[in-house]
Amino acid sequence: MALIDLCYLISAVLFIIGLKGMTKPRTAVRGNWIGSLAMLLAIVATLLHRDVVTWTGILISIAIGSVIGTVMAKRVQMTTMPQMVALLNGLGGGGSFLVAGAYLAGKEHTTLVSAGNEGMDVLIATAASGLIGAVTLTGSLVAYGKLEEFKFLKDFDAPWQKLANLLLAVACIGLSALMVVEPAWAEVAYWVMVLLALGLGVLLVISIGGADMPVVIALLNSYSGLAASATGFVLNNTLLIIAGSLVGASGIILTRIMCTAMNRSIWAVLFGTLQAKGKSTTSDDIYANVKSTSPEEVAMMLEVAERVLIVPGYGMAVAQAQHAVRDLTNLLLAKGIEVEFGIHPVAGRMPGHMNVLLAEADIAYERLKEMDEVNASMDKVDVAIVLGANDVVNPLARTDPNSPIAGMPIIDVDRARTVINIKRSLSPGFAGIANPLFALDHSLMLYADGKKAIVDIVKALQEG
Ligand code: NDP
Repeated sequence: MALIDLCYLISAVLFIIGLKGMTKPRTAVRGNWIGSLAMLLAIVATLLHRDVVTWTGILISIAIGSVIGTVMAKRVQMTTMPQMVALLNGLGGGGSFLVAGAYLAGKEHTTLVSAGNEGMDVLIATAASGLIGAVTLTGSLVAYGKLEEFKFLKDFDAPWQKLANLLLAVACIGLSALMVVEPAWAEVAYWVMVLLALGLGVLLVISIGGADMPVVIALLNSYSGLAASATGFVLNNTLLIIAGSLVGASGIILTRIMCTAMNRSIWAVLFGTLQAKGKSTTSDDIYANVKSTSPEEVAMMLEVAERVLIVPGYGMAVAQAQHAVRDLTNLLLAKGIEVEFGIHPVAGRMPGHMNVLLAEADIAYERLKEMDEVNASMDKVDVAIVLGANDVVNPLARTDPNSPIAGMPIIDVDRARTVINIKRSLSPGFAGIANPLFALDHSLMLYADGKKAIVDIVKALQEG
């Protein structure tokens, strides 16, 4: 037992060191390895626990899970990583409420009924695990569907929804209380509560649209940690409590950062009232005066520029244009042109999406600037290249209070001297709205796949 506790302690310390490593791109890979090592140690130590009756089921499950996990991780595209994260969050929540439910159904149940206060603690933790875990499972599955842009999950809007959320939440809390005061009913109340919480998870996330998904994903990540932590109390497993709390706390911190970046209130998110919706402006009026350009023309503008800002977005990830962007950056730097990257906190489809891609292409971190920093000196930018970004540079966020992205701070490329927008068409981004930036007098469209466009610009610069 002492050995297991020692292993748990080492694991916990390694988790914290691993997390610390992940706060900086330079140490992130090492942090990931340390976290994986901690998890391996935790699993091995748990397998040594005397409560483990037989290893057969556990080893078969680990083998199946490892195969599925490895195949998924190998096959996942960088652009669909957020979907995978959503699924993993959901599975974490599902695992937590199943384990807590199994514990309740086990032989300890009779002990709980007569265990007085001690049993009460466990019942409270079980209820928390069931409620949070179930909400996390279905909420994450809906988030997955939304990120996959399933049509049937789009624009859900029912007048009864808020009332239903409230009733479901009250019923879940009521059933949790029943579990604690009437332990004889605990099992039935638990599973009814889990069923209702599964419905609550769907309703809380289904109506969230526009640009608000990043906040929800971060929040669900935090919920999955809280559910695991509650299950740790159920099983009296210190490591699960610590690891769950770390995920829960870091998820909440990320949620706060996302809320600030999107100018949303965290309370609105917590109570599921985050619903920035409105009528989108019709694209026909907005796009009446759009002008297009060519890679050769862009190369000529870059030749005479002193300062270039590249604002990458989800389209750069789709096009896998980061390596071509590195070549362009090096070429411009060699010509004495200053190049910086404007990184919006919610660009792409997951927090840090653009940082990861640009780091993969070995672009120096010092060139990556945060939104506030680039906005402060936007007037001095000669050419802003918007590469597959749309919502994060959409001025409607500032001007249209009915827009789904109203109030979200954006990268103000419209204040640069010239704006080049590289994308394949005038299609909208994630929020589904038109973007007046594309029609400004000093704004030009380069219609192409992101990677091809950058490669062609590099060619034109080399030939020019
Ligand atoms: P957007 O989703 O607003 O726009 C992406 C643009 O990329 C599209 O307009 C598309 O236009 C273009 N594009 C797609 N494929 C290519 C390609 N191969 N080559 C060139 N362009 C391409 O992206 P942003 O990064 O600006 O904004 C992110 C949005 O996603 C925000 O609304 C944010 O809230 C949301 N979100 C962010 C999350 C996060 O954590 N970062 C999580 C979930 C949602 P076209 O089809 O014409 O090429």
